[in-house]
Amino acid sequence: MKNRLYKYYPEDFGELTVDVLHMDLVFDVYDDRTNVKSVLRVRTKDAPIEKLELNCRDLEIRAVSCIQYEISYRYRKDDAILEINFREEVPPHTEVAIVTDTVCRPTKHILEGLYYDETPAGAPPQQITQCQQWGFQRIVPCIDDMTAKCTYTTTIIADSRYTNLITNGDVVVERHTIKPGRDKIVYDNSVTPMATYLFFLGVGTYATFKREFEYPDGRTFMLELLVPPASEASAAEKALDILHDAVMWVYLFTGPEQFDEEKLSVRKEIWELVRRREKMKYETKSETTLEELEKLRSRLAELDATITPGYRYTGTVYREIGMQNSDFGGMENVGNTTITTNKIMPFPQMVDSAYEYMVKVKVHEYYHNQNGSEVTGKSPFEIWLNEAVTVHVEEQFHAFFFGEDYQRLSRVLELLEPVSGTFALDSGAASMPIIPEGFNDPNDLITAVTYVKAPEYVRMVETLIGKDTFARGLDRYFKKFKHSNASTQDWIEAMEEESGQPLKEMSETWLRQTKFPVVEVSAEYNRAERRFKFFLKQRVPADAKPWEFPFRAALVDENGNDLAEILERVSGETAELTIENVDMPAFLSLNRGYSFYGKLIYRASQEELLMQVRKDRDTIGRFMAFYTLVDREKLRLLKNPGSSPSEEFIELYYRLLNDRQLLEKAGGQFLTIFESVEDEEFAHRYQALYDVKQSLLKAIAWKYKNSVISAYRYFESGSTPMDSTLEETARAIKYRQAKNICLSILATLDTPDIHAMIKQQFETATCATDRLSAFSAYMDSSAPDKVEVLRAFEAESKKNLVAWEAFLSAIGSNSSIDAVELVREMERSDAFRIEQANDQRALYGSFARNRKKSLQTKEGRALFAEILRKLAPVNEYTTVNLLNAFAHIDMMETKYHIPLVKILADLLGELDPQKYPSVYNRIRKLLLGAPKAVKAYNIEHGEIPDL
Ligand SMILES: [Zn+2]
Repeated sequence: MKNRLYKYYPEDFGELTVDVLHMDLVFDVYDDRTNVKSVLRVRTKDAPIEKLELNCRDLEIRAVSCIQYEISYRYRKDDAILEINFREEVPPHTEVAIVTDTVCRPTKHILEGLYYDETPAGAPPQQITQCQQWGFQRIVPCIDDMTAKCTYTTTIIADSRYTNLITNGDVVVERHTIKPGRDKIVYDNSVTPMATYLFFLGVGTYATFKREFEYPDGRTFMLELLVPPASEASAAEKALDILHDAVMWVYLFTGPEQFDEEKLSVRKEIWELVRRREKMKYETKSETTLEELEKLRSRLAELDATITPGYRYTGTVYREIGMQNSDFGGMENVGNTTITTNKIMPFPQMVDSAYEYMVKVKVHEYYHNQNGSEVTGKSPFEIWLNEAVTVHVEEQFHAFFFGEDYQRLSRVLELLEPVSGTFALDSGAASMPIIPEGFNDPNDLITAVTYVKAPEYVRMVETLIGKDTFARGLDRYFKKFKHSNASTQDWIEAMEEESGQPLKEMSETWLRQTKFPVVEVSAEYNRAERRFKFFLKQRVPADAKPWEFPFRAALVDENGNDLAEILERVSGETAELTIENVDMPAFLSLNRGYSFYGKLIYRASQEELLMQVRKDRDTIGRFMAFYTLVDREKLRLLKNPGSSPSEEFIELYYRLLNDRQLLEKAGGQFLTIFESVEDEEFAHRYQALYDVKQSLLKAIAWKYKNSVISAYRYFESGSTPMDSTLEETARAIKYRQAKNICLSILATLDTPDIHAMIKQQFETATCATDRLSAFSAYMDSSAPDKVEVLRAFEAESKKNLVAWEAFLSAIGSNSSIDAVELVREMERSDAFRIEQANDQRALYGSFARNRKKSLQTKEGRALFAEILRKLAPVNEYTTVNLLNAFAHIDMMETKYHIPLVKILADLLGELDPQKYPSVYNRIRKLLLGAPKAVKAYNIEHGEIPDL
């Protein structure tokens, strides 16, 4: 047992011995407990059974019986199993009904099963459930398995003061009072037989906002938004606009013929007409409008009949419910998506990144109705199957409004981000493959590998077989596995059948191996033969197989025209690609659009890269050339302390800052300079990397102060949306990014006039992003009144949970000399609540990622150790995420090895592995991934027990 790194392995998920048919559930909800009566109907398969094991975690059992058979039962509490023994064997193909009467007790910090969410003032305790992945067994004895799909009848009896009593399905008995102070409502969920992890129940006090959703053919259902009682109606209406767009977009722009060029114009026309129809519906209804409306409707129905649309909703209500305290940003319970309250609607206090998250999470969770709820992966090992395609579709939606270039670049930045980026995670000590060998808690699978790497794999499959084929393959898969479970092989086979291309081997490598290909590219041009050759060589880690991937590249002339573009399927450790009859290129545009998940090494000259930054028609190509040039510059400064940024770099950055067209398209994010370098020797000197970045920005500010100020003014003038549509907001967000990049450049000057400018933005800002950007810049400055500004902003932020989250995050990531003390101060604040996941993530999460402070200063490490010790018993999931900061100990300078190992070793000694398996085993994994540092530690402190 000692050497096992995981609690669960694939063999723990065998075939069930019964088919689950139906659950009839009665929830009698009280403030401190809920009594649950359940009738679980199952049918034996081809073999008889003598016993049945039900999952049952931390429940009080009052009675267990079976309608058809005599039984005895035993509650194995430590295994979380309710074992039911039949006195006589139950024959094959026989239905039995197990009746249980149990009690569950909600808590404030176990955010699984039934738990207390934020209660509005004066209301009875708000209670919601979270069943992803094994929360249902904390509510009722059940077969808590993804393949145990069944129908439900659910009765809720609860305090009459609750405004909403909700569960999955459609209402069959309307809410009514059964005795003073107690109400009852009954739902039926039989359209979509549902896996247990999709169950939802909520009793709470909400403000409900509604919107009728009308398909082009006139069929309707209701969109509902449940948010805190005092929420502003205008924000809620905007949230419903976005949700409406998302549902309509899925209908019109996904599905088997979404890439059919001929039909595209019809879809776009429907999209526009729907928008017009919606406007007319809510305008004053004069007779002419009504008539026009009818005309519009018949035109829509006509057009609708000519397309094969994407997913169409099957229920009567689709609801989004705000959850204040949750480990997740959103969860797709059938018919009842829960979304973290701070990101469910466009609050005025919301920053732009949160706004974009809101846009994406809405379409993401909605799309799960098809991918996840109708077609479900077979076991937690196949969570990727539910998530990867869903994220892929979410990205298309994001691109629809923000533009392809912006969307793709934001994803590439997410891959490259040095602390919590996907490459960093995937190459660190805590990395797991998309389909891991095992896990300790299904939440271990909710990582960037599942949500970023797996979608990149899906994207590579799409690139290889073509978008059109991919869309049809997906449709084939959905049709074949509707209302059942699918495996990884099923998905791959659907794509193979549609495309006629082999994908199994390629998939195996991507799904089962950690890390990614690092591809060295060299090239050769033969003038006489007019022949160009690429030589590719993958660096393959020991005992790994080479990856197979699509490689998109172009030869480009000095004016930016493509001489040739290729898309090749590369397999094997080395590959040679030839382009015949072509002119000599001025530069190469490699891995266009980031065609494969991995890194590329090509020793291009400075001149080539500078030309590519300016001329490549591929925005990702331009960015990667910029990234490489900046990387070289940073490395040079690190290797030569005391040297200054080069003129060449300053000119390049200045030119890009003034490329309005580029920034309007790709957003200010194009100018991102990470606190990182690719060279591993210097990649983990966090303070030095921060200083180098500051010196680069300062050099620009020094030389081009006035230009940067005028760029700031230019982007400021365009940073207010002209209307409330999503596309207009998207445009403004890109401007704001550029504007705040200008501000951060100027801030490095740290002079009184710039302080005044930052303070002016802080005080007059009309949106949260501008305010927070200014606040962060001010905190990192030497402005004499920064403590007063901090106090005032703190007092203001405390009043609103959205603002508080953003404020805590700014504090956790601050770079000032008193950073650690500031974090300590905030956790002492009466507004900071350690059991709130938002508070944990915002303050502790951002501090953990602030590695120059949290890992590489003595006071930072002391604080980090305290945080981990405090948080592990409160929230394992967040703690595991904080621990990822330790993923690269061995690559840091040796002076950090022993102190960092000590934090982990001490914690390991204190933790109960049974109670906190995820934290415990994550620490072991991190230590095993740092053999050098552990060896040094052992010499000084002795062996670490339990490793
Ligand atoms: Zn999801």
